[in-house]
Amino acid sequence: MADYQILVVGGGNAGLSTAAQLLLKDKSLKIGIIEPSDKHYYQPAWTLVGGGTFDINDTVRNEADFIPDGATWIKDAVATFEPEQNQVTCVSGKKYTYDYLVAAPGIQLDWHKIKGLKETLGKNGVTSNYLFQYATYTYECLKNLKSGNAIFTSPGTPIKCGGAPQKIMYLAGDYLRKHGLLNKTQVHLYSAGTIIFGVPKYAATLLKVVARYGIKTHFYHELVEIDGNKKLAWFEVTDPDGNKSREEVAFEMIHVVPPQSAPDFIKNSPLAMPGNPLGWIDVDKNTLQHTHYPNIFALGDATNTPNAKTGAAVRKQAPVVVENLLAHMKGQKLEGNYTGYGSCPLVTGYGKLVLAEFGYDNKVMETFPFDQGKERLSMWLLKKYVLPWMYWNRILSGKA
Ligand SMILES: Cc1cc2nc3c(=O)[nH]c(=O)nc-3n(C[C@H](O)[C@H](O)[C@H](O)COP(=O)(O)OP(=O)(O)OC[C@H]3O[C@@H](n4cnc5c(N)ncnc54)[C@H](O)[C@@H]3O)c2cc1C
Repeated sequence: MADYQILVVGGGNAGLSTAAQLLLKDKSLKIGIIEPSDKHYYQPAWTLVGGGTFDINDTVRNEADFIPDGATWIKDAVATFEPEQNQVTCVSGKKYTYDYLVAAPGIQLDWHKIKGLKETLGKNGVTSNYLFQYATYTYECLKNLKSGNAIFTSPGTPIKCGGAPQKIMYLAGDYLRKHGLLNKTQVHLYSAGTIIFGVPKYAATLLKVVARYGIKTHFYHELVEIDGNKKLAWFEVTDPDGNKSREEVAFEMIHVVPPQSAPDFIKNSPLAMPGNPLGWIDVDKNTLQHTHYPNIFALGDATNTPNAKTGAAVRKQAPVVVENLLAHMKGQKLEGNYTGYGSCPLVTGYGKLVLAEFGYDNKVMETFPFDQGKERLSMWLLKKYVLPWMYWNRILSGKA
């Protein structure tokens, strides 16, 4: 007999929601959750922390408090997968067998791909909301900024919360406007992408926001090197014909969003999509079942599904995994269908937010009966107060 009927890899947003929902459907299931971290983070609020409008301490809680009743927490990290034997091996050397596996290990932040970054991150005006320990430093950088360039970068790989590189930039623009500093400073977006946002409806609003703060946009620019002491950053510029050049830019502050990929232990495993250098887990984009191992399902930031990698996406994926996994266990047809829903609460200033909601192929999928393309105070209040409450009280416990 296997150690666990269902083994969940990763006790983050996706792993906990899925385990909790499975147990709400059938409390007799024997579920193990492998998760190395003592702490659980509500990452979406780090944008607001960086803008000085949310307490960092309210973004972290003890993992133990959110392990669903009836599940076993295995405090370890998976090192390798042996799907032919229905087994994983952990960093500790311990092995666990399963009947079914749910992989939800999140995304890897590839800081090492930017030369000089590790040495200077968290000082010299170099910051990132992508780490718990530096989100508060972003606001410090903003408060210290009196003149010069404030740079916000966005890499060429898929990232968690594609809007996050811009949200903090708009908060910075609004902060500088309120403090009468917009004419002494210059806010820049340096993006490896080619346009401001993939969904035309929301892009139209964002272009107006960019104009409001006098932000200069530079597309086709990938951050490749940084020297914090000299306050210089270097970008690789790829022109539309594919020719490459290098550009040096001086900064007072720089908010870095690093390139991202599936965690290395996933990349190097049989679960990864063959030939994909970023190593995403290979699942069917609608059923979320692994394409080669039918007893494995995956969700969250680590899969190859072409949706916006967000907690909002996880919220729609978890019930699909639960429905399809339970059907598969009974030998039934998989009816659960994930249509690529993801949401990006685009903070455009203090008290202003555009709630972008869209699915596969950038199909707009809005919740509210009003024009969500507009900046709204109500949507800001949703992000600042309602969503964090929902996360801690309803989503992680599988009730929403
Ligand atoms: C700055 C920022 C802003 C964001 N804003 C938003 C937003 O406004 N709206 C939104 O919906 N989403 C937002 N997100 C994205 C959201 O946080 C993620 O999409 C969501 O957390 C994905 O869930 P996940 O379970 O896939 O990954 P995570 O929640 O990151 O969980 C992955 C888990 O796997 C564990 N793990 C890692 N390695 C191993 C291993 N070897 N073995 C076992 N477990 C392992 C980790 O410890 C972690 O607990 C934001 C993220 C950031 C960083």
